[in-house]
Amino acid sequence: MKNMRDKNSTNSGFTCANCGRTVSPAAKTARNHCPFCLWSLHVDSVVPGDRAADCRGKMEPVALFQKRDEWTVIHRCEKCGKELPNKCAPDDSFEALLNLTALQQ
Ligand SMILES: [Zn+2]
Ligand SMILES: [Zn+2]
Repeated sequence: MKNMRDKNSTNSGFTCANCGRTVSPAAKTARNHCPFCLWSLHVDSVVPGDRAADCRGKMEPVALFQKRDEWTVIHRCEKCGKELPNKCAPDDSFEALLNLTALQQ
């Protein structure tokens, strides 16, 4: 659990709080959500990757939208209700993303 407390590292592996799978660091960007179930943790306050929030609630993926050619997942914190946009990673589960789109319809 060392990585969870390391504020200088925004690109570290973690264990998903929702599905329990081990998530390895992304190749390029800071990974802030689970590529398998898309759940995140409320650790960022304003900017994705700032790790400034101390809420640490589980964040549920609630919506998906496309901006230019980038896909963004909206996460809502179970604990405090805050919503944050997060860019999709290239290896996010396509199936999970599809499920999310289905929810919106
Ligand atoms: Zn997960
Ligand atoms: Zn929160």
